[in-house]
Amino acid sequence: MSLAACRHWVFDMDGTLTVAVHDFPAIKRALGIPQEDDILHHLAGLPEAEAQAKHDWLLEHERELAIGSVAAPGAVALVRELHRRGCRLGILTRNAHELALLTLAAIGLGDCFATDDVLGRGEAIPKPHPDGLLQLAARWGVAADALVMVGDYRFDLECAQAAGARGVLVNLPDNPWPELTEMHAADCAALLQLLA
Ligand SMILES: [Mg+2]
Repeated sequence: MSLAACRHWVFDMDGTLTVAVHDFPAIKRALGIPQEDDILHHLAGLPEAEAQAKHDWLLEHERELAIGSVAAPGAVALVRELHRRGCRLGILTRNAHELALLTLAAIGLGDCFATDDVLGRGEAIPKPHPDGLLQLAARWGVAADALVMVGDYRFDLECAQAAGARGVLVNLPDNPWPELTEMHAADCAALLQLLA
């Protein structure tokens, strides 16, 4: 099936639908996390009280970022067009569910996604684990290979591959991960043109 005919689309949020604003090195410095470590993975290995305090800090920091979110080039038009075509749309993000909803509202896409189809780090095992995509496929009653996962990072593409879904990379000028990618578009505006 061509991507244009696909009816089930899952988007990463930060850096895909929004302009990336997370300063991960600064977050790691603030939380005392080694630069080479994964933030969520590191927090999961801490004693419970310390992990909770650092999760709380992260949530507050991200809330401020969410309120000030700016849509990535072409993201609103792409999602609106897929919505108009009647596609099922989901979000799979390592951000928190409530902040994802806040972010989608801030960029004017709050009405395009069912609340239950927005999976954050509390609803699914973080990418690159395929859990979130498998959950959405089950919820939507389709096989995972009917899903398209659109993202801006290796984790999004690895997640797609692990689930058996189709990986689309956006918002990078070149594609560093061709072996994980079915389609690469410079941004969501270019992707929309490819789907026309
Ligand atoms: Mg991203």
